[in-house]
Amino acid sequence: MIDLRSDTVTKPTPAMRQAMANAEVGDDVYGEDPTVNELERRAAQLTGKEAALFVPTGTMGNTIAIKMHTSHGQEVICESRAHILDWELAMMAWFAGCVARPISAGDGILSWEQIRAQVRPVGPHAAPTGLIEIENSHNMAGGTVYPLATVQEIAHEAHKLGLPVHMDGARLFNAAAASGHSVADFAAPVDSVMFCLSKGLGAPAGSMLVGTHERIGHGRLLRKRLGGGLRQAGILAAAGMLALEEGPARLAADHANARWLAGQIAGLPGIAIDPSRVHTNIAIFDVTGTGWSAPDFSDALRARGVIMNALNDRDIRLVTHYDVDRGSCAAAFEAIREVCQVRPQ
Ligand SMILES: *Cc1c(COP(=O)(O)O)cnc(C)c1O
Repeated sequence: MIDLRSDTVTKPTPAMRQAMANAEVGDDVYGEDPTVNELERRAAQLTGKEAALFVPTGTMGNTIAIKMHTSHGQEVICESRAHILDWELAMMAWFAGCVARPISAGDGILSWEQIRAQVRPVGPHAAPTGLIEIENSHNMAGGTVYPLATVQEIAHEAHKLGLPVHMDGARLFNAAAASGHSVADFAAPVDSVMFCLSKGLGAPAGSMLVGTHERIGHGRLLRKRLGGGLRQAGILAAAGMLALEEGPARLAADHANARWLAGQIAGLPGIAIDPSRVHTNIAIFDVTGTGWSAPDFSDALRARGVIMNALNDRDIRLVTHYDVDRGSCAAAFEAIREVCQVRPQ
């Protein structure tokens, strides 16, 4: 199977498995796992933040971030297809007692102007805004990347109103690789960032939440409340260290593969995709012009050894990663072309 469902399917490299086997460990709830401590230091250093917290999943990292920045009964401004809104089981309501104030942006990239119009003051009728959340790269918009100046403007203006900004940077390293900015450039203006080690960077599990000492200290207590107090987590952190050291350099190849595939697919009759919008490792294409529904198209691809997820009735998402090389991308393209040539039954 050529698996283009997500970059979460990446398997740990042999070097990672070796590092996991050899990892020095301790009880991380006592703060005594040297490998976790080293990973947290390294993540803070790379992002230019004071402190970092290792969390088992990106969802937990975002959930902690929202809780640490807000109080019950507030609103969280986010894009309408944000991961925190659509894919985290309403955790912002469940854990933080907040509701989302979604704003639609075609490419997933919010502007300060759009956000400003939705900021709500404390008053007798409306729930006040507690947090602004931005997703970089934006998953469901097709891996789009925030211009750095937009992040800077949003954070600068939000801070003037006393509002914190959290970046869901599950694929922050992809955003950095595609834009030429460093992860620290993107992290500098905002108050906290979550990024995943477990996606394109290749670790088997784990994400990082970074911010100030004070906030991350609070985040550590919230992680425990969520059942995320880990013991000898150095086994995972050892893989995370390698993900940080070796993963980022591989992302450019994933991006080139996604762009290549998007360019090939764009030439097929009935498929709608704008390859110029494919900036990172995600491409979303509309198959309605082929006569197929996206779920049936996805089933037909699976029957030909290629898996990609249908996002809805029209759109299919493909995500490139280091376990799928250019040759496999070419094979995936052949499967897509074949499905386009047959009629759905
Ligand atoms: C994958 C993802 C997450 C959550 O990560 P998990 O480790 O799967 O919980 C959060 N935000 C975005 C944008 C993602 O793509």
